[in-house]
Amino acid sequence: MRFVTFDGGAVGAVLGAEVVDLSCLATTARDAFPPTGMVRFIADYQANLARLPDALARGARKPLSACRLQAPILWPNKIVAYPANYHAHFEEMKNKTGLISTFKADGQGFFLKANSSLSGPSDPIVLPNVAGREIHHECELAVIIGAGGRNIPRAAAMQHIFGYACLLDIVIRGKEERVMRKSFDSFCPLGPWIITQDEAPPADAIAMRLSVNGVERQSANTRHLIVDIPEMIRMASSVMTLYPGDIIATGTPAGVGPIAPGDRVSIHIEGIGAMDLDVVQGEDGAHEVWNKGAEKPQGAPP
Ligand code: MN
Repeated sequence: MRFVTFDGGAVGAVLGAEVVDLSCLATTARDAFPPTGMVRFIADYQANLARLPDALARGARKPLSACRLQAPILWPNKIVAYPANYHAHFEEMKNKTGLISTFKADGQGFFLKANSSLSGPSDPIVLPNVAGREIHHECELAVIIGAGGRNIPRAAAMQHIFGYACLLDIVIRGKEERVMRKSFDSFCPLGPWIITQDEAPPADAIAMRLSVNGVERQSANTRHLIVDIPEMIRMASSVMTLYPGDIIATGTPAGVGPIAPGDRVSIHIEGIGAMDLDVVQGEDGAHEVWNKGAEKPQGAPP
């Protein structure tokens, strides 16, 4: 199944060219704050499976093209993100920034990205008003956690996956704290839907590509991950409890590069989905902290 959040917080399923409203299964009002409709839907999924066929048959239908798709998860407990998790991307960043090998995902682990950076397939990527700095796209597969847990062993990790989505990890390159450089509003496009694991390709054979204005920049397959998907779940859950709806950004392959106002960024993950996102210049984001980057110690992760 493919599940969406649409039209102001409603949860639905995509069937062909239509979206079926699954509000009848929801225990959260669509306009509730915080907007946890999909998180609750995922948390209750096993309990609701028996009711799903009836809900799909009876739910109101609307053409997918007429729906305003939002980030499928609007209020996760956390977004876990793995840096430098493809060998070729690590080499690329090492050459650009002097990274040392402990900064690969298998030696550095993961970081967090602000939940409020999430945006949807209908939203533009809004560049902050920070002059003279490169803002890069990172093409990533998102893993969506289903059943939560702590200390999840490798052998059980796949049972904790609800599904997958496309994710862009947008970042200002530089030496400031990574979470700040990656957490501007709209710096984490997610979508266009969550496809459940049973309908997705095998986790170690998912191909993805990203293009800007029709020119391919990134192309990779999860078989080339440094820390693979089961190990990402094991590592993250060794530190913290994973909850239903948590998002894991699995890391970007080689080919990261700058985006500018007017660009159109396209991400396509085979068997998962695709999004086309416009890049626009925003007015917010200026702060003198961005003028001091050169004073930061060398060797900090990008
Ligand atoms: Mn990334």
